[in-house]
Amino acid sequence: MHGLMMDYALTIPTIVRRAELYHPRKEVISRLPDGSLHRTSYGAIIARARKLGTALRELGVQPGDRVATFCWNHSRHLEAYYSIPCIGAVLHTLNIRLHPDDLAYIAAHAGDKVVLVDRVLWPLFEKVRDRVAFEHVIVLDDGAEGPPIPGTLDYETLIAAAEPHTFDTVTDERSAAAMCYTSGTTGQPKGVVYSHRSIVLHTFAFAMADIDLARENDIILAVVPMFHANAWGVPFTALMMGASQLLPGAHLDPVSVLDLIQRERATVALGVPTIWNAVLQTLDSNPGAYDLSSMRVMASGGATVPPTMFRAFDRHGVHMIHLWGMTETSPLGSHGRITSTVQGLEEQAVYEHRFKQGRAAAFVEMRIRSEDGIAPWDDSTMGELEVRGPWVVGAYYNAPESADRFTEDGWFKTGDIATIDGDGWLTVRDRLKDVIKSGGEWISSVALENMIMSHDAVSEAMVIGLAHPQWDERPLALVVKRPGRDCCADDVLAHLAPHLPKWWLPSGVEFVTTLPRTSVGKFDKKAARQTYAGYFDSAPIAGPIATSPVANLE
Ligand code: ADP
Repeated sequence: MHGLMMDYALTIPTIVRRAELYHPRKEVISRLPDGSLHRTSYGAIIARARKLGTALRELGVQPGDRVATFCWNHSRHLEAYYSIPCIGAVLHTLNIRLHPDDLAYIAAHAGDKVVLVDRVLWPLFEKVRDRVAFEHVIVLDDGAEGPPIPGTLDYETLIAAAEPHTFDTVTDERSAAAMCYTSGTTGQPKGVVYSHRSIVLHTFAFAMADIDLARENDIILAVVPMFHANAWGVPFTALMMGASQLLPGAHLDPVSVLDLIQRERATVALGVPTIWNAVLQTLDSNPGAYDLSSMRVMASGGATVPPTMFRAFDRHGVHMIHLWGMTETSPLGSHGRITSTVQGLEEQAVYEHRFKQGRAAAFVEMRIRSEDGIAPWDDSTMGELEVRGPWVVGAYYNAPESADRFTEDGWFKTGDIATIDGDGWLTVRDRLKDVIKSGGEWISSVALENMIMSHDAVSEAMVIGLAHPQWDERPLALVVKRPGRDCCADDVLAHLAPHLPKWWLPSGVEFVTTLPRTSVGKFDKKAARQTYAGYFDSAPIAGPIATSPVANLE
């Protein structure tokens, strides 16, 4: 058939050119290592990104080559975001918090040719440098102290000498634009390669989905690192919409985050629950000290938000919303924006919906596979969540051994255990690797954590399953008390007992001062399981804990 619409390629340069034309004066504000704020604009950033593009080409970077970054969130990192894909190369954001062994593995596996490194991060990067065959190491001088680093190139010198690049080399929307590695909580880290098309469609979806996270007049604070699933797409979505960006650099402590929100009148902020929990504690212990009236929405993703946190932020006048996603889903999968039908329900029912992970974004399809096949959407039949869509990974990068993460009919197996209700609201109950298998039944570590965290004296709680001689696994609760508050193991168990079957109650409660975190700031259950391995080994073998284990977690 002839006479169809134009075959217009969906490429990142189209977003960059649009910003150049329509939002050149919109601001990007970054916190520098010394704590001061640096102000620039999309126009200036893109002008420098074009020069960076030429400089990289002159260093020998070819289309398809991987160019890595080892940086905090700041405007020069954005320059890399807007330059590298636009010359046809692949932006590979390295996670600065990983162990040097993992970093060396990842950079080598990706075949990174060039790397851009923050000066302030050099002591970390130094441990990796000689273990990877980088052709060039480019240092971004951020004012951090230190002697000159032999054998490296200076970012500003390279840019100063370069002509602007045309950014017109990418014609195939299916070519690679960026890549991220999963943190490897099971096995080796795995690479996910995003195409121009997937990023553009994700950008569009993020902006147009009914989440309301990126209007032109928004000032968006991405506390989520730019190496964690492309800062959840904020760098591209804000650019396309012309929203201003606030980039916190190395200053992720709650006081700095609150100061940035207040000082720059942020309207939207995105991060993982552990960051928001720290922010909440600071707010609670300094009533009235911060003016957050500019904030329209605080988005939390990467792990379940404890129900108490939604209510607590409401008391501070900040509306929190759940985002669910994965590195493998670019990451937007679903969001918990309240629909008009839910809005009309009783307050408690509205909350119950906010606690869920929400409904799938357009073009993302979801289904639950239980032991009996594809599960009904009844809010109670649990199984593994499977997804598909234009920004969902189709295969891991050079990892044929991971083919079993995909179904024969083309869905990606998320590794999350979930339910979906009749209106499509997703509830993530646990991760397959974290759910506790006790006496042949599942116990949701997340449900226990949420309930323990609703105790007044508890600031944070992690629940892990540990080997048990009688029950296969039993839950151990690790609890952090609120400053100045006290409680004991019996208090915690008494708090849970009225709401749960007896066999769900943790078989141990330990009080700790901090909980281990992963490289992206989530609870690190793998590390905790290692620390407490053998905890129940000498547990007595007694009669059954439960009189009637239920068949599911409800
Ligand atoms: P990592 O594997 O290092 O945690 P990802 O950020 O890609 O890296 O993790 C994705 C996982 O995070 C999901 O599979 C899910 O288990 C969890 N997750 C993401 N968002 C949410 C959410 N809103 N609620 C509960 N869990 C979430």
